[in-house]
Amino acid sequence: MSLPYRIMVGLEVHVELATETKMFCRCANHPFGAKPNSNICPVCMGLPGTLPVPNKEAIRRSIIVGKALNSEIAKLSKWDRKHYFYPDLPKGYQISQYDLPLCVGGELVLLNPDGTPESTVRFERAHLEEDAGKLMHGNKKGYSRVDLNRAGVPLLEMVGKPDLTSPEQARRFLQELQLLMRTLGVSDADMEKGQMRCDVNISIWIKEGDKEINTPVTEVKNVNSTRAVERSIKVEAQRQYDEWMAGGDIRTRKNKVTAGWDEDSNSVTIQRHKEAANDYRYFPEPDIPPIAVYEIPELNPDSVVLPELPNARRLRYLKHGLNPADIELLLTDFDRLARFEEYTHGTELPPKQVANWLINAPESIQLQMAHFAELIALVEQGSLSFSATKPKLAELIAALQKNDKASVKEVVQTLGLLQEHDGAVVQSAIEEVLREQSSAVADFRAGKEQIFGFLVGMVMKKCAGKAQPAKVQEALREALSK
Ligand code: ZN
Ligand code: MN
Repeated sequence: MSLPYRIMVGLEVHVELATETKMFCRCANHPFGAKPNSNICPVCMGLPGTLPVPNKEAIRRSIIVGKALNSEIAKLSKWDRKHYFYPDLPKGYQISQYDLPLCVGGELVLLNPDGTPESTVRFERAHLEEDAGKLMHGNKKGYSRVDLNRAGVPLLEMVGKPDLTSPEQARRFLQELQLLMRTLGVSDADMEKGQMRCDVNISIWIKEGDKEINTPVTEVKNVNSTRAVERSIKVEAQRQYDEWMAGGDIRTRKNKVTAGWDEDSNSVTIQRHKEAANDYRYFPEPDIPPIAVYEIPELNPDSVVLPELPNARRLRYLKHGLNPADIELLLTDFDRLARFEEYTHGTELPPKQVANWLINAPESIQLQMAHFAELIALVEQGSLSFSATKPKLAELIAALQKNDKASVKEVVQTLGLLQEHDGAVVQSAIEEVLREQSSAVADFRAGKEQIFGFLVGMVMKKCAGKAQPAKVQEALREALSK
């Protein structure tokens, strides 16, 4: 499908960092599911005379993210007050970072399934700030209530450049960022719980004559699922194009507008003209000194050790011969990923087989390393078939748990899964089949390769459980070549 315009999108992503305590006080950082206003104190309630003290762990996690995005970590960074009035913001301002953010620049590379780079999305900056409280509307008595458990929760805002060119790519970018947060262990980034929220900046390029015009940006606020990000871009881009073609306000307007996304009606509602930065009356936070992270040993960005990042992992797994769909499955399922790493790191176990068991026979995650190794060896030798074992895996695991001295081989034997191989039986079966199927054999010898499978089947049938398919194939080929 080709559109009569080009889409240009940048995402601003807010992520709640999963620290033990809030950004500027010692209240528990458990905004989701706790009794309203149970994790609050004078600092996060914005009472006069209180002093904020920055949370070192939140700063450390932000630096980890910055390093993973290849950002420059600022030698000197500071806090600023961003003023606006809203009932969920008790101080009347948010402590944020304005002109000296903690992380500057950076990028995230999206890979194609084969591991080649598909696109690079750059970042403007990432800064640390505090979350606001939450309003609960719709009380029976007709008033709204405010829950300040979320007020003061550390929030990392990552501002992406408008490098995204399609709704689908924007969705993948957000999913990738989410995976990165989880891989780094800085946040669960669960969008349903509001731990990751996204503002979507959308404009389009329209060809008019020989020039191309860029429409003013619409910022769709608080889009709270990856699917909604994708759909809101699709809808808003088309809405801008339609407004342009109808000769609307979009042709003369210069400034950005903000909008909301309505999930039920699948539509974007324009809300207001965006404040310029000076409407927030930013000024330096007088109660907190600037941060020089390189001078604080626990925060020094040069000594940050990152875990293996998703893209590096993808490339390594591709080299092991894993297929792209299985790789994505492993990367997003941390229990299986940990098991996979444990079973393949510094061991002789073939990664492809390990992945096959973990993904296609998920109970195998319960096997101990030694049993897993034995299971794989039996399959490799041809003594066991994956497809016959899979439905009996739970029984196998239960038997091994009951008797930890038993070997996998002993148990599969009692389960009737062990494929024995009697060379003499196989030889005579092959001879019989070659005699009985002389015309099929002639066809095969004349080049009809597909007959081979049929002949193997005939031999297996005669051997009645005393033959392993791989060995039968080998012996049959040998016999046919004579
Ligand atoms: Zn507090
Ligand atoms: Mn923000």
